[in-house]
Amino acid sequence: MISTGNSKYRHTENDIWFSRVDVLRGRRVNREMFFITKEFTFDAAHNLTMYHGKCEKLHGHTYKLQVTVAGEKQEEDMVIDFLKMKEIVRDEVLSVLDHSYINDVLSQPTAENIAEWIFNKLAGKIRGNSFELYEVALWETPTSFVRYRERDGW
Ligand SMILES: [Zn+2]
Repeated sequence: MISTGNSKYRHTENDIWFSRVDVLRGRRVNREMFFITKEFTFDAAHNLTMYHGKCEKLHGHTYKLQVTVAGEKQEEDMVIDFLKMKEIVRDEVLSVLDHSYINDVLSQPTAENIAEWIFNKLAGKIRGNSFELYEVALWETPTSFVRYRERDGW
């Protein structure tokens, strides 16, 4: 079912849509794609050093984090085990940020910069033949959040 190589994509009657992972990797597969999301929270303090307003003072948030993996089902009809996601996020992100002063990690810890940092920490760890990290979403308050992706068009 999987064809590798650099030939141009040719649409056939059976092509519904291509998996983005495979398109990005130069493969072409007629399969559905899943988006697997796991949610976390962590408490941390920060202050914005290049900002004038309330947030330049030291304060804290209970951040909500959603990590989304995109891919295709493999063994056991799973894209990625939720437990595996949990372990990776715990080891790479929560162990550093939970109950931390985020300025120790990032000099300007805006939600944008934290989300980007989390994405970069996870991207190399959450990657397989049939899945990869798709998006990191980070809530600073219940009504304010940012989403970070590395690619357009997904
Ligand atoms: Zn803040």
